[in-house]
Amino acid sequence: MAAADDLAKLARLRMVLSNCALKDVLAEIAPLANQVVSWIPVNTSGSAVCRYNAANGSRQYEVRYQVGDLGNLVHELTHVSVNESYDLDFINYPNTMAQNVPDRIYDGLGRCTNEGLRQTKQMNHAMNAQVGAMLKNINSWAVAANELSASQKKQITTKLLYGMMNPQKECDTVLNQILVWMYEWGYPMRGHMVRKPVVNALYEELEKAAAKLYKQRAAGRVHRAMVEGAHARRRAMGYSA
Ligand SMILES: [Zn+2]
Repeated sequence: MAAADDLAKLARLRMVLSNCALKDVLAEIAPLANQVVSWIPVNTSGSAVCRYNAANGSRQYEVRYQVGDLGNLVHELTHVSVNESYDLDFINYPNTMAQNVPDRIYDGLGRCTNEGLRQTKQMNHAMNAQVGAMLKNINSWAVAANELSASQKKQITTKLLYGMMNPQKECDTVLNQILVWMYEWGYPMRGHMVRKPVVNALYEELEKAAAKLYKQRAAGRVHRAMVEGAHARRRAMGYSA
């Protein structure tokens, strides 16, 4: 299976990396592949869709991605991680203040058909501005990094623009994707250099941002486990919810 080959490549990459943001991200997403019940190859773009089991609270995923593009695969699995971390219909930051969120409506496979409306209620404009600024900062480094080839720079800035247009759900994803691409392209540059390459500064900024979001997702999972544990206790005690 094509996905198995790509997942094996990610596992090998994780083995050879010394401690860094990308290694942490790969460790985070590796077990999530077990929740994917349907891998669907696509030629462009990609997506991660959740199949909720309303009866027992479990979640499985269908993932569309471009086979052979490890950056794209990491992008889609990052969507899965975000949904698992925050439980906000793929919104990529915590928000405990969301109000008037309508109950989920499901199709026959447990996919949420009113996800867009729920996302609108769960996004936060201040957080959108914050993650948008994070992407903009990385973009300014990418524009300045003349060690990148023209096509690499275009690929990175196009992806960052996509993130800036959808900061509520495409920040963690595009940063992790670019991290994989840059690693595969041979960055950061190593060796004795008179001046620090701008591309290395870009890589550092990217790593800093990715590490911050990685920690935020980890904290989100701790919070979610606590909330779900409290619900389970109340049910066990005989409360209705
Ligand atoms: Zn995406």
